[in-house]
Amino acid sequence: MMKDNCIFCKIANGEIPSKALYEDEAFKVILDLGPATKGHALILPKDHADNLYELPDEIASKVLVLAKKMATLMTEKLQCDGFNLVQNNGEAAGQTVNHFHMHLIPRYVNDGQNINWVPGSLSQEELEEIKNQITE
Ligand code: 5GP
Ligand code: ZN
Repeated sequence: MMKDNCIFCKIANGEIPSKALYEDEAFKVILDLGPATKGHALILPKDHADNLYELPDEIASKVLVLAKKMATLMTEKLQCDGFNLVQNNGEAAGQTVNHFHMHLIPRYVNDGQNINWVPGSLSQEELEEIKNQITE
């Protein structure tokens, strides 16, 4: 199902043109308009889901298989040196378009991009507390 006024619904279902790299009954893979690197692409499910939490299991289980297929193809064709899969959920995590998407980001030695975080440091007790918060 499409959601009214969702730009990625319109792109995934062909109402707005895009540079498509792949398409099947459930997904379209398009080039990102504001690429981090050469070949940066997005996997878009055709049915709307706001984010990972809302994504049906059946679609979720297909996304990584498609990501692997695209990463393999793009690595061969673009001759990139590495590959990031990025998937943001919620504004705090950097999601700007509220239609689930997975970023396919080819990486090149010295490409000037930096998809990293500043590592924290926790005691064993603090790690235990967090583990318990999640698992209990
Ligand atoms: P997010 O920050 O939500 O994870 O990523 C949204 C991505 O969508 C950004 O990388 C942005 O460049 C891309 N984007 C936003 N609008 C459009 C559009 O209309 N067409 C395409 N191809 N990409 C878009
Ligand atoms: Zn949508």
